[in-house]
Amino acid sequence: MTVTGESTDVVVVGAGTAGANAAYQIARQGRQVVLVERRPADDGGAQWNNGTLDWQFERADVAPPTGAERVAEHGVTHIVGPEGQPGVTLVSPTVTTDMALLGRRLRTLALDAGVTILDRAEHLSAEYRGTRLASIEVTTPEGSRRRLAASLFVDATGRRGVLRSQSPVLQPWCPTVRGQELCSAADVHLEITDGAGAGRFLEAHHASPGETVTAVGVNGGFSTVAITVGEDLDHARVLVGCLATGRHGTGPRMLGELRDREPWLGPTISGGFGVIPLRRPYARFTAPGLALVGDAACQVFPAHGSGIGTGLIAGTTLARFVAGLEDPGDEHGLWNYQAQFQRELGGVLLASDIFRRLSTEMGSDGARTLISAGLINETNARAGLDQRWPEPSATELVDMAGRLSRHPGLARRMLPRLVRGQMAGRLAQRYPVRVDLEALDRWDRTARRLLGTLPN
Ligand SMILES: Cc1cc2nc3c(=O)[nH]c(=O)nc-3n(C[C@H](O)[C@H](O)[C@H](O)COP(=O)(O)OP(=O)(O)OC[C@H]3O[C@@H](n4cnc5c(N)ncnc54)[C@H](O)[C@@H]3O)c2cc1C
Repeated sequence: MTVTGESTDVVVVGAGTAGANAAYQIARQGRQVVLVERRPADDGGAQWNNGTLDWQFERADVAPPTGAERVAEHGVTHIVGPEGQPGVTLVSPTVTTDMALLGRRLRTLALDAGVTILDRAEHLSAEYRGTRLASIEVTTPEGSRRRLAASLFVDATGRRGVLRSQSPVLQPWCPTVRGQELCSAADVHLEITDGAGAGRFLEAHHASPGETVTAVGVNGGFSTVAITVGEDLDHARVLVGCLATGRHGTGPRMLGELRDREPWLGPTISGGFGVIPLRRPYARFTAPGLALVGDAACQVFPAHGSGIGTGLIAGTTLARFVAGLEDPGDEHGLWNYQAQFQRELGGVLLASDIFRRLSTEMGSDGARTLISAGLINETNARAGLDQRWPEPSATELVDMAGRLSRHPGLARRMLPRLVRGQMAGRLAQRYPVRVDLEALDRWDRTARRLLGTLPN
C-alpha cells in the first residue's frame, strides 16, 4: 500500500471537546495543526446533554454555551437518598449543554483558525524515534495510508489514551484505569407517556416540573439516578451512573431498572452511554513530543465524573505554554503545562478522588446515613457540583461537628478524609515546577498516601 507523508507543527488526535479546543487554541497562536478523528468529524466526542459550568468555559477562554447549545439554565435540584429520603434542595451551578452542538462549535472555531481536520482516520499506528513520538500513520477513508510527522502530538482520544498507552515514557506513570476507577453512565432524553405518573413522581419528592431529583447511592456508594421532568410533563432527561465493576450493574442496566420502577418514562428520543475515568489526573501526562488532554489524562472531577470543563481548561493551558517555543514538543515547555494544570486544579481533583473513594467504601448504607444525618448540605452540595472545595461558614462547621458527634462511626471515617482533602490542595501547590522525575515520584507517593492507595 502506498504511504503519503507530510510534516506539520502539531497533530491532535481525537476531535471531542478537549481535542477540538486544544487544536483551536494552538492554531490561534499561528501553528500549523492537523486534527485527526476516527469518526466522521460531526460525531466526535460526547453526543448527549451534559452539565457544564460557565466559569470553566471562561477560564478556558471559550465563550460559554448560548442559544440552542444552552439547553437549560441552572435548575433546582433535590438531592435525595437511595429510596428517595429527602436530603437537600439547591439551585445547581451547572448548565445543561447540547454536546453535539458544543463539539461542532469548537471544531468550526478550529477550522476558522486554520486547523486541517482529517476525519474517518482509522488504524492509527505510532512511530518513535528513541523515546520521542516522531510520527503517526492512519488509514484514510480512501483506503490509503497517511503519515503525519510533527514536533508535538496531543492525545485527546478519551479514556483509552491511544498514544499514551504506547508511550514508553508515560506507561509507568499512567496505569490503565481499572473497573473501580471507572463509571458506567448513560444520559438520555425520553418521552413521558403518562404525565399523571410523572406528576405523582414529582409530588412524592416535593418537586416541580423543570426540576431535577437526584438520588445518590442507588446502586452502591458511588452511583446516581438523576431525573429532570420537563416543564410540560411530556419529556424527561435521565442521567444514571455507577462504578463499572459490574457488581452494581451498568449505566444501561440502571436505565432498564429505572424504567421498571417508573413506567411513566417512555421511549428514548436521544442520548448515549459510555465509561468515564474516576481518578485524579495522572501525576505525569506529558513526555517529549507528547501531551495528554481530557479523559486521556484523567482530567475529570472524580466525585461525579465530569470532564468537559477540565478538558477545555487543559487544552487552553497547553496552548499557552507551547506558544512561542521553537519546538512545541520541548519537554520543559510541556512540563510547565502539566505543572500549571496540577497546581491550579490537581488539588480539588485529588480531594474529589478521596471523597469518591469514601463514598464507594461506604456503599448505599453510607449514602442513606449521610442524607438522614443531614451531612449533605447546601454548601457542600453546591461546591461539589461547582467542582470546588467547600468553604463552610463557622456556623455550618459547628452544625456539622454536632451532626458528626451523633454518628461516631461516620465521623471516624469522614474526619481523616476531610483533613486529607485539605492537604490535597496544599500538595498540589508543591507540584515540581521543573523536570525532576525523583521529585515527581516523591510528590506522587504523597498523593497516593492521601488517597489511601499507599500505606503511610
Ligand atoms: C453518559 C455520560 C454522561 C456524562 N455527563 C457529563 C456531565 O454532565 N458533565 C461533564 O463535564 N462530563 C460528563 N461526562 C464526561 C464527559 O463526557 C467526558 O469527560 C468528555 O467527553 C471527555 O472529553 P474528551 O474530548 O477528553 O474525550 P471524548 O469525548 O471521549 O473524545 C475522544 C475523541 O477521540 C476519538 N478517538 C478515539 N480513538 C481515536 C483514534 N484511535 N484515532 C482518532 N480518534 C480517536 C473519539 O472518536 C472521540 O471523538 C459524561 C460522560 C458520559 C459517558
